[in-house]
Amino acid sequence: MLSHDMIKDLVKIQQLGNLNENENFRFRSYLKMQDPDRIDIIVNGLYQKYTSAIDCTTCANCCIVLQTLISKKDIKRIIRSLNMSAEEFMREYSEINMEGDRVLKDLPCRFLENKKCAIYRDRPYECRSYPHMHKKGFTYRLLGVIDNYSVCPIVFNVYEELKVILRFKN
Ligand code: SF4
Ligand code: SF4
Repeated sequence: MLSHDMIKDLVKIQQLGNLNENENFRFRSYLKMQDPDRIDIIVNGLYQKYTSAIDCTTCANCCIVLQTLISKKDIKRIIRSLNMSAEEFMREYSEINMEGDRVLKDLPCRFLENKKCAIYRDRPYECRSYPHMHKKGFTYRLLGVIDNYSVCPIVFNVYEELKVILRFKN
């Protein structure tokens, strides 16, 4: 089966993110012409492969560089475990971003301790769902995928192997 050499090094991935930017957008256009359901099936297999091969507890890059969206439900759950009021939590731990959404403030995330989440069981939905590769409709979310390509080794390797499988590289 066609494959590619996995890369986990975050510095290298960041560099390749810059270097491959044009190619990634060309591949986006190519993917948009493919059957979305077929691409979802391939991506799902690749996602399983790379989540098994990459240990998030040795990476934590998403918790270091990305601001997390939080919902009212998330806040309810987290304040129960932190034993604080919603007002206190919102003042201490959250802010409104440029798009007008409430997010966890401060980077790296203040709940990150030794590359592990201190509120893991109650973490926001966005953290549970990241990097969103298990969801249907991969070809409709490609701008987000390209954004995450240089942040998350799982996204990087899925996107690169997808290029190889679809023979885009050649
Ligand atoms: S989801 Fe991606 S960026 Fe976040 S810890 Fe796991 S491999 Fe790293
Ligand atoms: S709440 Fe936990 S999982 Fe979410 S960004 Fe912070 S440390 Fe990471």
